[in-house]
Amino acid sequence: MKKLLVAFWILPIISFSQMSDEEQLEQIYKTALTESKAYEWLDHLSNQIGGRLSGSLNAERAVAYTKAEMEKLSLDRVYLQPVMVPKWTRGIAEYAFIESGPGLTTPVNICALGGSVATPAGGLKTELIEVQGLDELAALGKEKIEGRIVFYNRPMQADVINTFEAYGGCVDQRYSGAAEAAKYGAVGVIVRSMNLRIDDLPHTGSMSYGELPINKRIPAAAISTKHADILSTMLELNPKIKFHFRQTCKVYPDVLSYNVIGEIKGSEFPNEIITIGGHLDSWDLGDGSHDDGAGCVQSMEVLHLLKKTGYKPKRTIRVVMFMNEENGLRGGNKYAEVAKAKGENHVFALESDSGGFTPRGFSFDCSDENFEKITAWKPLFEPYLIHYFKKGGSGADIGPLKGDGIVLAGLRPDSQRYFDHHHAANDTFEHVNKRELELGAATMTALVYLIDKYGTMLPKKIKG
Ligand SMILES: [Zn+2]
Repeated sequence: MKKLLVAFWILPIISFSQMSDEEQLEQIYKTALTESKAYEWLDHLSNQIGGRLSGSLNAERAVAYTKAEMEKLSLDRVYLQPVMVPKWTRGIAEYAFIESGPGLTTPVNICALGGSVATPAGGLKTELIEVQGLDELAALGKEKIEGRIVFYNRPMQADVINTFEAYGGCVDQRYSGAAEAAKYGAVGVIVRSMNLRIDDLPHTGSMSYGELPINKRIPAAAISTKHADILSTMLELNPKIKFHFRQTCKVYPDVLSYNVIGEIKGSEFPNEIITIGGHLDSWDLGDGSHDDGAGCVQSMEVLHLLKKTGYKPKRTIRVVMFMNEENGLRGGNKYAEVAKAKGENHVFALESDSGGFTPRGFSFDCSDENFEKITAWKPLFEPYLIHYFKKGGSGADIGPLKGDGIVLAGLRPDSQRYFDHHHAANDTFEHVNKRELELGAATMTALVYLIDKYGTMLPKKIKG
């Protein structure tokens, strides 16, 4: 009887430890599709809280909410990491029209770029000059640009499969367009939205004035792709048309905010840290469901799934909701700074910040040895249609952790629809599919499980 009892208690432990990787992954995916909390969490973040621009009340509500939800997961530790963040507000709704003759106006949809200064109170009205990018701006020079609004109209390249590459190919217009145009005497900047689709939505995003003194800064706004095309056509017909726009955005002094952190302590190698994260802040036009509410709830779901499937990590698994990725990266920088100061040994970091769409795989930033070890696990992911394992980039928030030995990775979902929503008013909850979101969380958990179980090559030595 006594023997039987012992067998009864030991059996589940033995059966778990004997579970093959195939079985463990199957367990993770099945649990994600039936017991995940990710969609419910995203519903709250998106619909009960909403857009979470750094320094806003909503951002602080999101900090409190995700901390409380992680506390419910019975983790070993949940805490806040203070970080100072920029505070920029949009002000009242922007307003713009094209004036093709006295009394002949065409209203267009614009939104201020994050970090931009306001226009004069009554708005700004003048002629424009269209350019395809920063090179053309420089070629035109001061004579053609002074006193005008520069209209950057280089579209995202349609024939690139990875839409992030297409984004990277024209985002310099948005980020540096105003600083460059101001050098040639421009009075304002209008940038074609970073969107492959022709629609009515302007897409915001961060911009920088670089070293430009405050009194030289000019207002910058994004225009919807449809209105960019209309503006371009009208300019071709009559280069003398005028553009009027008004925006009341403002920069305030930095404010205190937080990264939200939750962790499960490793049972064998607690000093080897695996960090998983997304960014809790978002732009203000939508509710930030894809960018990056999805990545936050998927990261939290990794801990939930590990708990639910009864897996006890050997290494410390830490989830970080980074603050201020969008307009400053202060949270990512602070996390890495503190980790470095404490001499923490990060062996792996995984970020989800490419939308909550169907997962395809991962991109990696790591040594050849580690990449070889990880790609050997590809067949395990095959039943879940996960096939993309490529070197090249990970994520903005985990980037500052880069160093010898660490493996950095980014979840890579299907990217075809991402830029239809990115930084626009339609980045909202109804555009996230529950199963796709859950499959992304399961895919992250599967990789975290394998790395935790088998470790990485050449881990960094712990300081001291
Ligand atoms: Zn993002």
